[in-house]
Amino acid sequence: MKCKSCKNKLINKLKKDGMKNNEKSKRLESNYPTVEEVNSNNGPFSKNVYAKGLLGYGWKLSIPNDRKLYYSINYNNLTDTSYDGYEFITPKNGLKDDIINFFNDLSKIINIEFIESQAETLNDLYNEATLLISFSDDSKSDLDGSYGYAYLPLANQLNSPDLVGIVWINHGSKFKLEDWSPGSYNWITIVHEVGHALGLKHPHDSYSDYYPTFPEVSEYNPYADLGKNKENMHPLTVMGYTDLESPYVPKNKNGSGWCKGFGTIDIYVLQLLYGKSDKNTGDTIYTIPTLNDDSIFWEAIWDTSGNDTITGENHTDALVIDLRSATIKNNKKFAGSKLTTSKKILNESQTGNKFFGFTIAKSVNIENAIGGNGNDKILGNKSNNQITSTAGNDLINGFKGYDTVIINDIFDNFIIRKKSKKLTVLKRRGKGGRRVKIKNCEKIIFTDREYII
Ligand SMILES: [Zn+2]
Repeated sequence: MKCKSCKNKLINKLKKDGMKNNEKSKRLESNYPTVEEVNSNNGPFSKNVYAKGLLGYGWKLSIPNDRKLYYSINYNNLTDTSYDGYEFITPKNGLKDDIINFFNDLSKIINIEFIESQAETLNDLYNEATLLISFSDDSKSDLDGSYGYAYLPLANQLNSPDLVGIVWINHGSKFKLEDWSPGSYNWITIVHEVGHALGLKHPHDSYSDYYPTFPEVSEYNPYADLGKNKENMHPLTVMGYTDLESPYVPKNKNGSGWCKGFGTIDIYVLQLLYGKSDKNTGDTIYTIPTLNDDSIFWEAIWDTSGNDTITGENHTDALVIDLRSATIKNNKKFAGSKLTTSKKILNESQTGNKFFGFTIAKSVNIENAIGGNGNDKILGNKSNNQITSTAGNDLINGFKGYDTVIINDIFDNFIIRKKSKKLTVLKRRGKGGRRVKIKNCEKIIFTDREYII
């Protein structure tokens, strides 16, 4: 990933060359966009190294009271060549719908209602849309070999509001990548640039002590430094440049398995900036993708209520399912995010170019887990969990709360060995022997009876 977002030189260049004088004032006359200062010296930003590390130089978009923020794609095709003198490319089939879905989903994560502008004149579009997302390529525009660029909502753009919210994506053939589906290498450019437009900076850029890099990430080594606790990488943030260096994503750009949306750290910081919204309020089931699925990806779960389940049912890979939500604390591996994925991926021994998994955003409670056919490790959280051991030699730890293990079989097929609070449940050999090790759980439910531990 290379992106020009923070190159002030470029901003100055575009200010000088690109803007047509007769268009300069249109967005200035409208109510949007405006920017407001965010103080990182006190309040929640001052206490968290990741908040400071992603906060874009102390400024964010100012969202009106009705929380609506309009976006457009390729200026609603209202102009053949755009304002920077750049030429549009029509995004690949289906990509526009994917972007609309992405914004609809984001409206449920942060307290902004993203709406696609339906403006029918350029003037109306300028007056309405804050985020202007466009596709072009190097042969038609000065994208300088980058995957895309965006303008952060910065104070020095107050006098040039035409720049705020502008995003360009390089849709050129240069990269020879066909796949633009969520989870592809192309796709993460879009998420990354929208992150900039909303006010996130790179974790490897620093600007005074108040807007530092992530811990132990060097400004001079942005493509390789994963940070002190491997936090500068997918699936925790999409805002870095280490997208090929993370051990948990493909090693080449033709793969599939980067983030579908923002990572756990990104969500935490965006919610500090804009507040939280409600998502998946019913009983939601999150199915762990398999390598046979076409487009696969990492997804950070944001779920605000209901009795929810992560399931690996029918999965043949050995899985790690971890129901603990991200803490976003310094000095914790992955900034306190837990990865639910296959053991091979977690152990960094996955070969091939497909990766997948879930993380759980801070403060989210997922209650239940269902294992697959492999030898799974299933970890609960501090609430009352229900953990189903389907097959294989599973290892289950319920941690705090009143936790129940479900075994879809009759009690008589098993032998139970108890040693203090640890339990080993052995399925008799003649019945297709297997072993389930259980820690910190309070009850087992067999199909014909319950066993209180
Ligand atoms: Zn960038």
